[in-house]
Amino acid sequence: MKHAKMQELGLERIYRLFELAEQELEMHPERAKRYVQLAREISKKVRARFPDELKLIFCKKCNSFLKEGRNAQITRTPKWTLVKCLACGSGRKTGRKNDRANGIGTGELPGTIDGTGKK
Ligand SMILES: [Zn+2]
Repeated sequence: MKHAKMQELGLERIYRLFELAEQELEMHPERAKRYVQLAREISKKVRARFPDELKLIFCKKCNSFLKEGRNAQITRTPKWTLVKCLACGSGRKTGRKNDRANGIGTGELPGTIDGTGKK
């Protein structure tokens, strides 16, 4: 199988595992942790980059699935986002490109701000 195809399949499974993790978080937090762990293993195996939106919702240190107001504390500014895992206290700061941060914060579509011509 081609590498690109592997990555595509891997990413699909990663997204699926995160969906499951979110569902299981309420009733079975340990299961949610396991799903995150599996998703990370898949990303390593197929050497796919973890999607940015998923990077923010798990703890790199203890593999917990993070949900704001439940086991995570999220501080947002227009420039960066700080996600703190309340289970192990590990924190993670993200955000580099301004347009991306603006897109998340305001709901505006990235790319329409400075008229790059893309839809
Ligand atoms: Zn943690």
